[in-house]
Amino acid sequence: MMIETSLPDSVERVLLDEATIQQRVREMAAEISADYKGIRNEDFILVGVLKGAFIFMADLSRRLTVPHRVDFIALSSYADKADATGAVRMIMDTRTDITGRHVLIVEDILDTGYTLSYLQRVFKARQPASLKTSVILSKPDRRQVEVQVDYLGFEIPNVWVVGYGLDFADRFRTLPYIAAIKPSVYEK
Ligand code: 5GP
Ligand code: MG
Repeated sequence: MMIETSLPDSVERVLLDEATIQQRVREMAAEISADYKGIRNEDFILVGVLKGAFIFMADLSRRLTVPHRVDFIALSSYADKADATGAVRMIMDTRTDITGRHVLIVEDILDTGYTLSYLQRVFKARQPASLKTSVILSKPDRRQVEVQVDYLGFEIPNVWVVGYGLDFADRFRTLPYIAAIKPSVYEK
């Protein structure tokens, strides 16, 4: 099997390379570890949003120096892109009861804001001891609703990005960098 060392044809440009991402995740993990210092394992839950956040979740959680549990949820993606009504639905819930616990949401990207604002509303209703949000990417130009983010990796321009967990039609998730893909890919 050939191991790919050059950029795939579909990649237009790399926005954030592997070293840059890893350095930022280290900084975020250090900040989170300091903020939650002294917490007990059973009180602190990282909740990753599938599928896009799975790699960020793996990297971030392994770099935390405070004990924590991990759990996951899955939300519906946009049902219809053209009609961005902001309708979001939970497809898979956490296995852990978050009530009375310190919860940190781990998400891949903040775009319009509908997904995170929905999730924060649902989680707040369950009365966690605290609720914070960490996101690796944000596209500020796309925001439709304001969302509170406590730990942010990078702001990026309004382009569709892939890699580091993010996909296009379930492809490109395992690229170690974050890249824009060529328009020809969408048109296929
Ligand atoms: P929002 O509800 O904030 O508009 O959208 C957030 C969700 O849209 C993310 O969790 C992600 O699934 C998806 N998304 C938004 N922008 C991008 C992007 O550039 N690339 C990928 N792969 N997903 C995106
Ligand atoms: Mg997502």
